[in-house]
Amino acid sequence: MLIGAHALVFTGSFEQAGLTTAIEKTKQAGFDLIEIPLMDPANFDRMLAARLLRDNDLAVSASLGLSEATDLTSGDPAVVAAGERMLEECIDIVQAMGGTRLCGVIYSAMKKYMEPVTASGRASSAAALGRLASRAEDAGVHLSLEVVNRYETNVMNTGRQALGFLDEIGHSNVSVHLDTYHMNIEESDLYTPVLDVDTRLGYVHIGESHRGYLGSGTVDFGSFFRGLARVSYDGPVVFESFSSAVVNQDLSRMLGIWRNLWDDSDDLAAHANRFIRDQLRAVESISLH
Ligand code: MN
Repeated sequence: MLIGAHALVFTGSFEQAGLTTAIEKTKQAGFDLIEIPLMDPANFDRMLAARLLRDNDLAVSASLGLSEATDLTSGDPAVVAAGERMLEECIDIVQAMGGTRLCGVIYSAMKKYMEPVTASGRASSAAALGRLASRAEDAGVHLSLEVVNRYETNVMNTGRQALGFLDEIGHSNVSVHLDTYHMNIEESDLYTPVLDVDTRLGYVHIGESHRGYLGSGTVDFGSFFRGLARVSYDGPVVFESFSSAVVNQDLSRMLGIWRNLWDDSDDLAAHANRFIRDQLRAVESISLH
């Protein structure tokens, strides 16, 4: 099991200086993996990232949220094609960096929709993801679809809805990505959805209810980690936190990061690394009972 941190804990920019800071500090905080947001894949230096990751002996994954210009649920075929091309490039970047996972809101735009998803929009996204899953499989990359709250997509907001969408895609190289921040808003509890998703859980984000320090909000982490142990989850577990102290224009504004919940990335990250590993160690002991 790889324990990771989202790069936006450390940097909002991904040119050489930002990337170096994020990778070195993720390693220093004790994590095994860094998740890099690919909001601008065309300008991302994949070979530099690959070298820095090797030098720091750190695993990598990548994530993104699509935009209105790349929305796979769009009624405009040109927009869907642009989204598919962008995700193909992201798959290539993950492979070039030596990673095996691409996750996030890669099935619709990450935005507040003002109407429900249409049947044709849903079908368009499922078909595109089926093609992308095949291409990703050839590249050794696995896709996970992040279940987010109602203000960030209209396609699916719960784990069980995600299972229905996976069935529509019908490809084994796609799994569910659960995030405790979103689950805390939409799910009935933090345990049952993990059991429901079970072997189709492929990626996990650990976020507090306000996206700040773990343990300082209302997320029921005890139940969530018990769920992971119950289904023998062995995939990545990645800490995600955002503050106005570290700003990436595209992502921070879309997620509504308006206030400063922390300003010491190193302390926040070291704390999260301990918190996650302590929770996992505690639930591991349940098997002895
Ligand atoms: Mn997330």
